[in-house]
Amino acid sequence: MTSKDQHNRILRDLRISVTDRCNFRCRYCMPEEIFGKDYAFLPKESVLTEEEIGRIAKIFVSLGAKKLRITGGEPLLRKDLPNIIERLSTLDAEDISLTTNGSLLSRMAVSLRQAGLHRVTVSLDSLEDDMFLQMNGGRSRVQPVLDGIDAAAEAGLQVKVNMVVQKGFNEDAVVPMVDYFRQRGHILRMVEYMDVGNSNGWNREHVVSKQELLDRIGEHFPLQPVAPNYDGEVATRYQFADGIGEIGFISSVTEAFCSSCTRARLSAEGKLYTCLFATKGHDLRDWLRSDRSDEQIADYIQAVWTNRKDQYSLERGLASDKNDPNGHKVEMSHIGG
Ligand code: SAM
Ligand code: SF4
Ligand code: SF4
Repeated sequence: MTSKDQHNRILRDLRISVTDRCNFRCRYCMPEEIFGKDYAFLPKESVLTEEEIGRIAKIFVSLGAKKLRITGGEPLLRKDLPNIIERLSTLDAEDISLTTNGSLLSRMAVSLRQAGLHRVTVSLDSLEDDMFLQMNGGRSRVQPVLDGIDAAAEAGLQVKVNMVVQKGFNEDAVVPMVDYFRQRGHILRMVEYMDVGNSNGWNREHVVSKQELLDRIGEHFPLQPVAPNYDGEVATRYQFADGIGEIGFISSVTEAFCSSCTRARLSAEGKLYTCLFATKGHDLRDWLRSDRSDEQIADYIQAVWTNRKDQYSLERGLASDKNDPNGHKVEMSHIGG
């Protein structure tokens, strides 16, 4: 069953946040000043169980979702993650992937692969310890993440690396990151710093645009654009002119891609969000914990999707009252990017 939203977009991807907790405090996501010792994370009983995640994913697949991505918070903090992936792998989805900060990946890569995971995206913002520690709130050096990436590749997982670039903090890491990962055959994607959530003090001046990144990288490694792999691919692709490797840009600030946004997002507490920048979620946990049937829940999700009008990034910066600057947006650590 495939339904279209108000801008004619189908539901093709489901991103499932399995926890709102994280062992990092990235400055652009969960800054320590806000997510410190006293921050109230969700109590265990509020978070969806592995059974509930399996059931809701099955319902989304019945509605047309083909790509399932696990995210968080830091999903590897959940001990039952291999069980969750095993449940997803029994569904009729084409692709099961995971986004992680990679710090715990070296010890879990094999079990995740065995459970049926296909691909992993590891977030890493620098190859230098000092800079990386500044980015992640002093929580991890670089080597454990590089070990995680190696372990994932060895376990047979496809690996991509995401790097958020924040002006004045890690721009100097761009060229070394590009060089390192192209030599190792992993696609690096540069992510523009976004105004997600309410905690990171986002300011357009802190964004390093795709064009600035292209110029910076192009001075060292000439690049050529490549056609997308499929319609609606989020990253725009470039090949290195010398034929060694490829990189991507996820430019939601300077080149919004809302018109092809086919993603639904499920928060750790079971709320359905139809946009990364949504101020309101639709509670599915109550439905899961009631005596409603899968069909009833599917009808509800379909109604939400059919009414969907979101295109926040396209409207960002327009003198528009559609993006209420005072609206309380969902935090990235709740729905996971
Ligand atoms: N903890 C995992 C990780 O870091 O990969 C998964 C969750 S994290 C919220 C998902 C992705 O969102 C990461 O690649 C992270 O770099 C990205 N992200 C978080 N805050 C962001 C922001 N303000 N702008 C752009 N990307 C952001
Ligand atoms: Fe944690 Fe990922 Fe957010 Fe960093 S980006 S604080 S690793 S959830
Ligand atoms: Fe999709 Fe919202 Fe991002 Fe636009 S801003 S691409 S609608 S999640």
